[in-house]
Amino acid sequence: MEKEGNTINELADVYKETEIKSSLNVISSETKKEDINVNSAYDKITGNYWYNNKSLWLMLRTICFIIILLVFLGLIFNFEYNSVKTSTIFWFFLIPLMVVIIYFVPMLWRNICPLATTHLFNFNFFHKKRLSKEGVKANILSGVRSTAYKFLIKNGVLISALLFWIIVPMRLFLFNKNDFLTLILLLIIFLTALIMGFLFPVKSGWCTSICPVFSAEKTYGINPMLYIRNQRCDYYNEQLKKVNSCSGCSFNCIDVNEPEACYFMESCSRPFHDNINALMRKIFISTFPGFVLGYMFFTDGFNLFVKSLNFEILIALKDTFSTNLLLKYSAISIFMGITFLIYNLIKYLFRRFIKEQLTLDKPNRTYSLYKRRLDLSFILISFNLFWIGSSYAMIFYVFSPIFKLSNDLSLNLFSVLFFTIFTLSIVGLIKGWNETFIQGEHNPSWW
Ligand code: SF4
Repeated sequence: MEKEGNTINELADVYKETEIKSSLNVISSETKKEDINVNSAYDKITGNYWYNNKSLWLMLRTICFIIILLVFLGLIFNFEYNSVKTSTIFWFFLIPLMVVIIYFVPMLWRNICPLATTHLFNFNFFHKKRLSKEGVKANILSGVRSTAYKFLIKNGVLISALLFWIIVPMRLFLFNKNDFLTLILLLIIFLTALIMGFLFPVKSGWCTSICPVFSAEKTYGINPMLYIRNQRCDYYNEQLKKVNSCSGCSFNCIDVNEPEACYFMESCSRPFHDNINALMRKIFISTFPGFVLGYMFFTDGFNLFVKSLNFEILIALKDTFSTNLLLKYSAISIFMGITFLIYNLIKYLFRRFIKEQLTLDKPNRTYSLYKRRLDLSFILISFNLFWIGSSYAMIFYVFSPIFKLSNDLSLNLFSVLFFTIFTLSIVGLIKGWNETFIQGEHNPSWW
């Protein structure tokens, strides 16, 4: 028991070391409106105002839940409209829509995600009551669960990234146009999230660890258009007679403070820097453009593109790598390896340019600024590569057949959709260009 207590104490120490502590504010539905501490311009832009609006969040979560229930029903009964299957609507409309929300307002998605709602079933109906009575001690586990919990909080992002890299390419040859397999995948994912919610405290068993979308959320979430604070984890602490917005269930949580804080934590706090989560974040960002390019390499859109340009070598390469599953994953890994090397070469050149000895205790402002710019650029490239394919598919695979749009109109819609989001992402890059992780030098959102 002492060991488990130590885990919580260690976490508490880390929280004390970082500015996370400042986000453990006392705000929720039980708090009286006049008690809400909207104490700065920072709170206004970070959406503190929305804390009290629990009914709004409940409504948004219910809408998302109804949408996913309709998807389940559509997949079960093979619903299709004008030859557009439910799986096509799910993969080529709902998923890209989710990614756009995550890119611009990551915490909006984390607050309304139906998978998170499923995972938090145990928290909302049972565990919250225990937290109220016992405080954070309620999060302490014993036996096998304790061992598994420690493994999860240490290696969660690694598992999440591995699942992301394995499952997403499966879309190409299993899920994209197959209602039955999509249904099986969703059933497995939703059931796992529900069970993990019963096994581990709050979000630690899924949303802040092994959820396949988590590593992408962590990556996309570093420069949000609008930062909304976490609306999911608050509970009333009966001993302290106050509402806490966090019970410290996870080590690598992105919900607890503004995303830029991860840079701050990574630089000034060894536990965060040395663990595998910090390393995974870097690997994920550096390989992300390669991963998206690798995925696109096998899409129909790529076929059209290379055929129109008559790139014989690319066509031959694609045909070779398409012959079996292992070769497809190998091709994607090669793309990932190339962007990983480019990322690290640029970082190496930064370090040569800085010349100064870099230490964890004394972060170098210029180096961190360059590192962040590099991350932002890689994430922007990954997102827009994804978006060019997804906006095309959204219009031509979903909207065009459903609404029987002409080819010209579809092309115009595709151009408007792509360039609107592309322009917004460039605005975000410009706004975030000069921010660093150093306290007082980052703005949590650019809206
Ligand atoms: S998920 Fe994050 S914000 Fe919620 S209780 Fe756990 S550590 Fe705190």
